[in-house]
Amino acid sequence: MGALSPKSSEAVPLHGDASIVSRNPATGQILGEVPVASSDEVRAAVARARVAQRDWAAVPVAERARRVLAFRDEITTRAEEVIDLLVREGGKTRSEALGMELVVVVDLATYFAKRAEKILAPQPISLHLLKNKKSYVHFVPRGVVGVIAPWNFPLSIPLGETIMALIAGNGVVLKPSEITPLIALKAKELYDACGLPRDLFQVVTGRGATGAALIESGVDQIVFTGSVATGKKVAAACGERLIPCIAELGGKAPAIVCADADLERTANALVWGAFANSGQVCASVERVYAHESVHDELVRKIVEKTSQLRQGDPSGEVDVGAMTWDRQLETVEERVKNAVAAGARVAIGGKRRGETGMFFDPTVLTECRQDMDVMRKEIFGPVMPIMKVRSEDDAIQLANDSHLGLCGYVFTKDREKGRRIAERVECGTVMVNDVLFTYGAPETPWVGVKQSALGFTHSEDGLRELCQRRHVNVDRIAGKKEIWWYPYSQKTFGRLLAGLRLLFRPKRRRA
Ligand code: NAD
Repeated sequence: MGALSPKSSEAVPLHGDASIVSRNPATGQILGEVPVASSDEVRAAVARARVAQRDWAAVPVAERARRVLAFRDEITTRAEEVIDLLVREGGKTRSEALGMELVVVVDLATYFAKRAEKILAPQPISLHLLKNKKSYVHFVPRGVVGVIAPWNFPLSIPLGETIMALIAGNGVVLKPSEITPLIALKAKELYDACGLPRDLFQVVTGRGATGAALIESGVDQIVFTGSVATGKKVAAACGERLIPCIAELGGKAPAIVCADADLERTANALVWGAFANSGQVCASVERVYAHESVHDELVRKIVEKTSQLRQGDPSGEVDVGAMTWDRQLETVEERVKNAVAAGARVAIGGKRRGETGMFFDPTVLTECRQDMDVMRKEIFGPVMPIMKVRSEDDAIQLANDSHLGLCGYVFTKDREKGRRIAERVECGTVMVNDVLFTYGAPETPWVGVKQSALGFTHSEDGLRELCQRRHVNVDRIAGKKEIWWYPYSQKTFGRLLAGLRLLFRPKRRRA
């Protein structure tokens, strides 16, 4: 069994906790049902992947990369089919499914396939003292990587990690989110169609317990993406087993709007940055600090642009689709309700839309204060809270007043000033005059500070993170013995001391 297969909802009765039912969040329609993998099944999947990985690791990097491109080609060829499922299971629009999921994963595969051989080539280290020795670091696949994924980007996140891990020579067992399991199984179907070793990449469906079982199943590394709360449990479980863990966690991205910002570009960026994917992006604009001199005009523009957004069933021509998960919708409702009770003003939106489907109006809140939940806790929905600030320094201080630090944004016409502000914002990535997009630039590191991440992904170093770094040192001269070996004697001690003084002679310092 390469993957746990979905069952058609007509053929099989629903099984409660032993299975997961996937629904279309825009219509409520049942799309399918998948089994919940037990810990034995997870362990068996990891064992099969380990066998397949041994042969795969022996394949030269360039050949691995070439073969993984067949997977990319399968995704590209069957793009409409994948987009259709992303829209139906994830609630996102067709443009988002294409631009934020397929394009990202296909480009990432191409980028790393082309460069992997160079990135993973051994790195020589020139020893600064011991010129008679030669060192280098080489990169060895870790073995089987467990990927645990969230529901907001059910294709680009897990498949991006999977493709990088495969190119690096690993096997992968993926535990997708219980909210969007069918997309992962579709990915497995595409993978199986392109001639790669079947057991090398497997999908185990299930809830949190299945994810926990994956960590305990003997995998050699975990790449986790999800909430801070789960990330802490995952990191602790990995720590217990001393296996490396990359954890990509929550965000609360601040946007600083300077007095000299181009307000038209800023408003366009903020509206897209807050509402794309119904605001369910870890990098979403989650709080805006607008300079008092431009605040009112900025709000006017944002509200006008928000009012023009078309929201509805994403199978049609809309800008904003459905939210993906009912519990997230409840969180968003609660955040907005609490903010209003605490004095925020709803400039537009503010409520659920329609009787069926999980829609929340694209919402703009003004008169927000830093002490409100809506400014402090992740919203993960289509809500843009805005706060007026007196100076850019105030904005930076407020932006940094957070336990999270994934992405941040600065808007100014003065790029040099933008760069200076960006460097003071405590986030893994800060963009000047743009939002969100760098997840789709695989050469840049996807990294968070504070509680937003442990480790990082993407970039050349991100590919190397999926390998063990091993150091080899070769003696070039091979004399009979080194000076620091036995026997110790006054003579060698004296020579070493003289060497120390010669090399590290203390400089005379003026008083
Ligand atoms: P979540 O933490 O609830 O679940 C993530 C995954 O972990 C799911 O597959 C879940 O089944 C699994 N899981 C749950 N408990 C587990 C356990 N004890 N051990 C192992 N696995 C377990 O997160 P979510 O609701 O799916 O995703 C939303 C969150 O993800 C948001 O906070 C968002 O900011 C974050 N996110 C971060 C990034 C990033 O790159 N930093 C990207 C996307 C989403």
